[in-house]
Amino acid sequence: METKQVIIIGSGPAGYTAALYSARAGLKPIVIEGHEPGGQLTTTTDVENFPGFPEGIQGPELMSNMKNQVKKFGTEFLSTKVIDVNLSQRPFHLKCENGQEFLAESLIISTGASAKYLGLANEMQLIGKGVSACATCDGFFYRNKVVHVVGGGDTALEEANFLTRFASKVYLVHRRDSFRASKPMQDRTFNNPKIEIIWNTDVKEILFNEHGVTGIRVHNNLTNEMTERSTDGFFLGIGHEPNTKFLKGQLALDEHGYIKTAGTHPDTSVPGVFACGDVQDPYYRQAISAAGSGCQAAIRAERYLEALHDK
Ligand code: NDP
Repeated sequence: METKQVIIIGSGPAGYTAALYSARAGLKPIVIEGHEPGGQLTTTTDVENFPGFPEGIQGPELMSNMKNQVKKFGTEFLSTKVIDVNLSQRPFHLKCENGQEFLAESLIISTGASAKYLGLANEMQLIGKGVSACATCDGFFYRNKVVHVVGGGDTALEEANFLTRFASKVYLVHRRDSFRASKPMQDRTFNNPKIEIIWNTDVKEILFNEHGVTGIRVHNNLTNEMTERSTDGFFLGIGHEPNTKFLKGQLALDEHGYIKTAGTHPDTSVPGVFACGDVQDPYYRQAISAAGSGCQAAIRAERYLEALHDK
């Protein structure tokens, strides 16, 4: 089996940017794209906060532009998923879902994180049509509109507060009668006059017409009452899950499963393995910050390989 210099696992803005830099550095990278090439941005519509596009750009178009830019410099793309890695041997060993196996001197992991959804009927089809798991990405489209946010952790409360910059009213729907979010976040929320909290309530159904979301059907789990609520937007704030299952036991992850990196550098606990994008970032989670960290990971991989080959 031929040993590759660098393999990039994952294909969002972080992975494509890492590929762009490593391809231009002559490292002939392979990108193992997974089953959703382009990552989370391919499920959004307008992207207005990625610099360089004064009129905004559609998420899928941005990702296909990034991929086409990478292609110009010679990169191999594989549409399969890595299911197993051995980082205790050198070169590192990877096993893919389609049966392919690879050896690599360095690895860049950019498998991202997936927002959790409730699993309601039509929820996924309505993403970009009123359903969103990213207030920072989509809040702007709800100027003077009514939105509902579900969840009771820091993500939900932060989203609810952020959305009050645009929406005329934000309802925060939580399944219990207390929040698990931090105290300052709770205080901010209770003091925000645009936020109204709907306690002890589960969302059971998303209502929609041909234009998108029109409301939600909710169940009060204390009174057993079912009600319909009108809304223009429905935001999920029930957490994210980093895509790191295949890495368990191989490198250091934090208690939520995010890859631990070395502060300002994308180095992981295993020398030669670098991480970038949302898989190591529960905080910023933006396309532009992911792309920036992809550039850093590629530069670190290049320097690591230089040192390895100089030995
Ligand atoms: P959390 O796991 O902390 O909270 C998830 C919330 O969603 C909980 O309130 C939970 O309800 C609710 N929930 C989960 N599943 C369902 C479901 N199926 N139906 C209804 N409600 C559901 O996730 P977060 O993303 O909020 O936070 C993750 C970590 O990131 C935390 O450590 C948080 O502090 C941190 N974070 C920090 C931020 C900051 O400092 N600015 C911003 C965002 C996150 P229940 O409470 O009943 O379990």
